[in-house]
Amino acid sequence: MNLQDNLTALKGVGPKKANAFANMNIHTLEDLAYTIPRGYEDRRSIVDIKNLKEGETAAFLGTVDQIVPGRFRGKRGQVLKLLVSDDTGSIEVVFFNASYLTKAFAINAAFVFYGTPSYNRDRLQVIHPDFTKQAEFVKGIVPVYPLTKGVTQKEMRRLQREILPLYDELEEYLSEETVRRNHLCGLGYALRNLHFPEDKQRLLESKYRMIFDEFLVLETGIMAAKNRAGAGKGIAFAQNDCEQEYICTLPYALTGAQERCVREIKADMESTRTMNRLVQGDVGSGKTAVAEIAMYKAVRNGYQAVMMAPTEILARQHFEGMQQSFAKHGIRTGFLVGSMKAAEKRAVLEDLEQHRLDILIGTHAVIQDNVAFANLGLVITDEQHRFGVNQRVLLQNKGENINVLVMTATPIPRTLAVVLYGDLDVSVIDELPPGRQEIITRCAVAGEGMNGNLLRRKCYDFVERQVRAGRQAYVVTPLIDESEAIDARSVNEVYEELSKLFERIALLHGAMKQEEKDAIMEQFGRGDIDVLVATVVIEVGINVPNATVMVVENAERFGLAQLHQLRGRVGRGEHQSYCFLLIEHGSELAEKRGQIMEQSSDGFFIAEEDLKLRGPGEIFGTRQHGLPDLKIADMARHMDVLSRAREEALRILKEDPELAAGEHLGLRGRVTKLFGEDMTLHL
Ligand code: ADP
Ligand code: MG
Repeated sequence: MNLQDNLTALKGVGPKKANAFANMNIHTLEDLAYTIPRGYEDRRSIVDIKNLKEGETAAFLGTVDQIVPGRFRGKRGQVLKLLVSDDTGSIEVVFFNASYLTKAFAINAAFVFYGTPSYNRDRLQVIHPDFTKQAEFVKGIVPVYPLTKGVTQKEMRRLQREILPLYDELEEYLSEETVRRNHLCGLGYALRNLHFPEDKQRLLESKYRMIFDEFLVLETGIMAAKNRAGAGKGIAFAQNDCEQEYICTLPYALTGAQERCVREIKADMESTRTMNRLVQGDVGSGKTAVAEIAMYKAVRNGYQAVMMAPTEILARQHFEGMQQSFAKHGIRTGFLVGSMKAAEKRAVLEDLEQHRLDILIGTHAVIQDNVAFANLGLVITDEQHRFGVNQRVLLQNKGENINVLVMTATPIPRTLAVVLYGDLDVSVIDELPPGRQEIITRCAVAGEGMNGNLLRRKCYDFVERQVRAGRQAYVVTPLIDESEAIDARSVNEVYEELSKLFERIALLHGAMKQEEKDAIMEQFGRGDIDVLVATVVIEVGINVPNATVMVVENAERFGLAQLHQLRGRVGRGEHQSYCFLLIEHGSELAEKRGQIMEQSSDGFFIAEEDLKLRGPGEIFGTRQHGLPDLKIADMARHMDVLSRAREEALRILKEDPELAAGEHLGLRGRVTKLFGEDMTLHL
């Protein structure tokens, strides 16, 4: 028997059983070996019944003195009570609705029970313990596995025990160096102790080894891909400070963080290496200026540059701002979005091909097949997290060895960015422009009825005062119309209600015509509208510095990252800004989110908290990003191991970029297996 064998090689596993296991993706003995317990029960010592304590889970050995079937809840439920005793005392063991168990017990038979005692009136009892006949009981730390229909815990444990001997002959696939440098225990030892640990220390060592392994393989694959990407010869822009010509026409001085980021981009652009850089900066940190500077440099070198934004509104805003500032330098800027008329589009495409345009700003319309550049040298994606990795690659393919800049407002924590964007270098803008004040954030659980109305009333009174002082406000609701959901206030309803309070008010939602949306955004931008009632179409990027209040209705319907983005629409100028999160249907999660928002304005912190609340799977299905699933390791919980594994991956690849050396073949095999032969990331 060896680990490559099918499950049916095991005694008692026929085709039917194998099918049940297949539902859990367990086909071979190796799959079984890598099915890690979701928890453990400590059954190393048997506690005397008199020493059982409320709330302390323990194993105890006793003989059954009495079996009392009975009823509860007006005879609707069945209950089975046992009186169990040892030399030191007795305790009641209770099973509800488990008449099938009556036959499992016999008077005077001895069992080991494992459960948590609790008080019923003044008597200690144990409800629904695990139990095993004394003769079958094995002392130890017992694994608890994830299960599926047709697979019982007992069965799983039995099979896991059966393959234990295989681990003794397991070959180590990591190099001796790697094992030693990272103080790893052996693979066989790790597997054995992961399933049937002798003690906590060994379990920890083993877990560490398995998590490290998973990250090492992942990171080796990603870093290898990155090395290859960087190997291509990129355009080397002239080594001069031409970007200063643009910087000195900006209406403000760059922040230190922006300057650093520009330096990093400049170095990339001036080297022959292709630039692949992620600019990560919180909302409002001034990423746009950095992008403009890079575009300016590309254009001064005779190249074209393109910038892709996730929404038409955002693309238009960028276009309007940049067209003006670039025109001062004689740079011609074009605009391309899906809603444009065919003739307009054609004109833009022609200008691009003839190099009558230096810069193109648009939505994903810019990655369509018919878009061709005369001499493209730089591509930028704004709010990268809204795009798939594929879209970035499509844009990149508009030219050869194009320099790539992607910008995002930290929807993911630092360490995770490295994993997801491992093929990118990262610049962080960790400083806001001067004079920004903390946005005052208040979260209120309105609930229904009078109280709720009062709270909303107070909030809108505040908005009125701000408007009278010359400021503007956003009111965001989750939905377009009432039919979509019964429970949330619709954007139309809110708009109608607020129309009674505010004169210069407008409505903006996704289903409106593009020209209408653009016209309204323009009016809002000019200050002709005081209150903008909108859906999340305004979520990313929008920049109206005079807007100082963000009210989010039905805040319970938004995730933390989204709330943070929404709040980022205010506090973009010199005025004190405010964010009100109105929760209509309170829940623990919604209130926790509200607390986090009140407590912090740091996008990194909020992203980490979001990760804790939701788990990494939900925030970014790794699949969605083209990365393979992890079985044991958890990017959120094991970040420290992740960075150590990453260091090791870098060290190994530096020594042996192709993983061709004998001692690296094992690792190479794992990497290929994880990423698949045909994935772009394979070695
Ligand atoms: P984001 O990083 O969210 O894309 P933006 O680039 O839209 O942020 O910038 C937000 C606001 O800050 C804009 O109004 C912009 O003009 C302003 N800004 C950017 N950099 C600076 C700076 N160094 N000093 C002052 N204001 C700045
Ligand atoms: Mg932006």
